[in-house]
Order: sequence, then structure tokens, then C-alpha cells
Amino acid sequence: MAQTWQNKEYDLHETYESLDLAIDAVNNFSEKWTRGCTRKTQEGEKRFYTCRKQCPKRLYILLNNEDHKVSIHISNDQHENHDNKIIEACFEMIEG
Ligand SMILES: [Zn+2]
Repeated sequence: MAQTWQNKEYDLHETYESLDLAIDAVNNFSEKWTRGCTRKTQEGEKRFYTCRKQCPKRLYILLNNEDHKVSIHISNDQHENHDNKIIEACFEMIEG
């Protein structure tokens, strides 16, 4: 589990003056994000968030040790599995 989070490629999304502002930004994204694990790194504390249950997209909030800025980094995965219900609804039985 830890490996998947670490192996992803993340792009810097935006930098904020405080953790509260960064958390507000995550809460205001159009997608819903769920708080995941927290990791202490040399750069600073990383708070990971996951998109919906089966979706591979992740983001983390970095609390930078050096300049005390807070930044959001988003993985470059595509959103997936948001439309499972629609796929199921399209399933039809074909009778011969
Ligand atoms: Zn997603």
C-alpha cells in the first residue's frame, strides 16, 4: 500500500500560506477526497488524500519544513471508476 502512494508522479498544484487554506481548497475541489495516511519526510509532513474508492488518483498536502509554506500536489493519474453505476445500468440480457 505505501509503495503505491510513493511511486506515483505528483505535480505541484498550488501553494498556500496556511494549512487551513490548503484544506479548504481540497474541500472545494469538484471531486470528493478522503483523508488517507500521513508521512513524515525530509521535506516535511505529507498528508495524503485519495479520490473515490476505486479511483487511482491521489493528492497530498505538504507542510514544508523549510519555508513553512503549504502546497498541494496532485498525482497525474486519470480519474477512473467514477461511472460504475452507469456501466451496470447499460448491461442487457440478449435472448436468442
Ligand atoms: Zn477520481
